Amino acid sequence: MLKLYNTQNRKKEILKPRKDKKINLFVCGPTVYDFSHIGHARTYIGFDVIAKYLKESGYDVFYLQNITDIDDKIIERARKTKIQPKQLAEKFQKEYFKDVKELKITSVSKYAKATDYIKEILSQVQRLMQKGYAYQLEDGIYYDISKFKNYGKLSRRTITQAEDGVSRIDESKNKKNKGDFCLWKKSKAGEPKWRSPWFQGRPGWHIEDTAITEKHFGSQYDIHGGAQDLMFPHHEAEIAQMEAISNKHPFVKYWLHTGFLKVQGQKMAKSLGNFITIRNFLKENDSRTLRLLIIKNHYRSPFDYNEKLLHQTKKELEKIDEFIDKLKNTKTKGKSQKLVYNLKKQFKQAMEDDFNTPKAIALIFNLISKGNTLIGQNKLTMTEAREILNFLKEIDKVFNFIFRIKAKDKIPSSVLSLVNLREKQREKNNWQKADEIRKKIQQLGYQVEDTKDGPKIKKI
Ligand SMILES: [Zn+2]
Repeated sequence: MLKLYNTQNRKKEILKPRKDKKINLFVCGPTVYDFSHIGHARTYIGFDVIAKYLKESGYDVFYLQNITDIDDKIIERARKTKIQPKQLAEKFQKEYFKDVKELKITSVSKYAKATDYIKEILSQVQRLMQKGYAYQLEDGIYYDISKFKNYGKLSRRTITQAEDGVSRIDESKNKKNKGDFCLWKKSKAGEPKWRSPWFQGRPGWHIEDTAITEKHFGSQYDIHGGAQDLMFPHHEAEIAQMEAISNKHPFVKYWLHTGFLKVQGQKMAKSLGNFITIRNFLKENDSRTLRLLIIKNHYRSPFDYNEKLLHQTKKELEKIDEFIDKLKNTKTKGKSQKLVYNLKKQFKQAMEDDFNTPKAIALIFNLISKGNTLIGQNKLTMTEAREILNFLKEIDKVFNFIFRIKAKDKIPSSVLSLVNLREKQREKNNWQKADEIRKKIQQLGYQVEDTKDGPKIKKI
């Protein structure tokens, strides 16, 4: 029986989909105004594993993710960089998909762009107006949180605490309650705009998710996921919107939240210089490293990223690679001692306990050490090796870090670190040193090309 931790009730509950084995899953996607960072990767890899595990367990999962392609942050960044908001959003949506592909996040059934759902958004705002949950001010249509008696229930805030929430809550001095949020924003001159019954404007952030999910899932569905910091006000606002419109409770049966990611004990922030984008991470490391790094932590636990952890993870991957090579090369004849027999059951137990991936991964390393002992004694048979390989292949459908990326697409880490070293020399204008390193790279069979997006590596 699969149990998952439902934030709504603060406890683990048995997964019972609303209908048979069908699971409608929605996860808050990116606001496409910049490159995604490893904190985002944590959430997206986390839910990729969850969705894949559910699929492998026989559930019929429809995984929907929104893309916020219109938002204050996009407009502000576009103004600063002097391009159109639409262009900026398109550029970073492309970059996001590049990251997603690189990280082997393949479980999402549909990506839904907010601007493709303006009709649905307006319909929701209109229904909220008709039902008296929303009101019009000079600069927008607002949700009146005092009208929704359960406001604050998911994040366990009282209405006063909810009113003090300021993160991404829209400011207007005429709001009825401090915590009222904007459903439809009047556009200022030069800003993107769409026609509405009230004024030309654009959607608020919270309404896009419920408009998208109502269209694909209806007014109630199984699982809503997202990063923990979205619980308030974002997810709270979603509940208030959808339940007010539909009069149906609960809007979402299970709320799943991924924990915070810190870098060396500190919040990741551009101002602190500890901001790690997925793109930069992948310049020096492969995607397997990031997947293992993230998956070996439980999705709900706080996660402290640091160099030591990175180093450890790389060592662990080497251990896995060596083990797999040995399995493939074993020639010992004889019967299997059924190393994976009990392990399969334990693995399932771990994963069914709120997707306990750290435990599942510990089991894999336990298997490796037992296997290595047998190999050392020349006792690991070909039959056993095949059983282990099959088991690893099976679980790698969910984890995607166990098997090496095919050699033809993979640039060796020795080459990557040389390229990196060369970049550092170039930054210091040490051209001679940089050139020497280039020659070393060539000797390894690779060529570096310097482009405006940084160095490009090609096999000679
Ligand atoms: Zn969202």
